[in-house]
Amino acid sequence: MDELHSLLLDRALNTIRAGQLVAIPTETVYGLGADASNRDAVQKIYQLKGRPANHPLIIHVQAPLAGSKDTEKDWLTVLDPWTRHISETALTLITHFWPGPLTLVFEKSKLVLDCVTGGQSTVAIRSPAHPLTQELLRRFGGGIAAPSANRYGRISPTSAADVETEFPNNPNLLILDGGPCEHGIESTILDVSGEGLPKLLRPGSISPSMIKASTGIDVVSSSGIANQPRVSGTHLAHYAPHTALYLYSESDIASQLSGFMNQEPKLRLAVIVWEHEHSHHQEELKAYLQNITFIAIAMDPGLLAKQLYRLLRDLDQGQYQGIFIPSPPKTEAWDAVRDRLQRASFGSGPSSNNHVSS
Ligand code: AMP
Ligand code: MG
Repeated sequence: MDELHSLLLDRALNTIRAGQLVAIPTETVYGLGADASNRDAVQKIYQLKGRPANHPLIIHVQAPLAGSKDTEKDWLTVLDPWTRHISETALTLITHFWPGPLTLVFEKSKLVLDCVTGGQSTVAIRSPAHPLTQELLRRFGGGIAAPSANRYGRISPTSAADVETEFPNNPNLLILDGGPCEHGIESTILDVSGEGLPKLLRPGSISPSMIKASTGIDVVSSSGIANQPRVSGTHLAHYAPHTALYLYSESDIASQLSGFMNQEPKLRLAVIVWEHEHSHHQEELKAYLQNITFIAIAMDPGLLAKQLYRLLRDLDQGQYQGIFIPSPPKTEAWDAVRDRLQRASFGSGPSSNNHVSS
């Protein structure tokens, strides 16, 4: 760790201890963190985000030090203050995937504040893999409660600059700059609070088949967009740009866009296309090339996850009247990206009040 980062970490530590907020880098997206045991500090997260009080946060915890002799025991010690019971299945998931982009939902202990869980009897916990945040957690010794560091319903930040853009009226918000996020979308969330198989609450870069392959554990998943966190404030709208976002199917994009352009010839549209379809679409829509900006992307779920929020944020600044993006294939590998796109599209547009209902 260089001196600059060490000084920054000292500042972040003092800020957390003083009950103030710190934006923390993780491998998924940037989080807006507060001391999970300090009610006033946690309330500041809700105020700054404009997030409904019944929408719970994730508690971030430290990982055992490298070279630990009994990692399982270390994890149990770290989790003990927050949880009532940890099943064998949960412990297996932890030893395979933590620190990493997997959040687990447990029965909560009495110590966990209601404001962290939105009043529920369960608590969501994760150990993030980013070295700066791990070091902060180690120095702090407690849990840091954090949701993504964006205003409620909007696109999650994947860089320190994105966090700044989200909260322009809070120039004093301390942001621990850990560079661009490695995964780019929020963690996978599994409910391991009951006796049965883990339930998928939110798809992420760790998929059920990856879990099955490395642990033999089956994950129960409901299909499509029904995979929502068990909270009343979530609804379908989330991660949304101000510009209207449309998901299109390859077969009817040309006629859909010609329809738009014939009605309103002055529209400026951004059309994201799969790399291998790029020249095909340009040919089909050549009459409108003046108004349409094409952006070619690789058909790779990991890569798109990593770039997605950056792309949406940049296009949102581009004065377009609409952004078009192809519907990803309906396969498990694309579940996380498809989920984010559907929610982003549902909540998008200048007012969004037809979508964000909480
Ligand atoms: P964010 O990372 O901004 O999406 O915020 C934390 C996420 O964790 C939210 O989507 C919550 O719904 C989810 N979460 C937190 N606690 C729980 C819980 N007890 N049960 C289900 N989901 C939870
Ligand atoms: Mg969020």
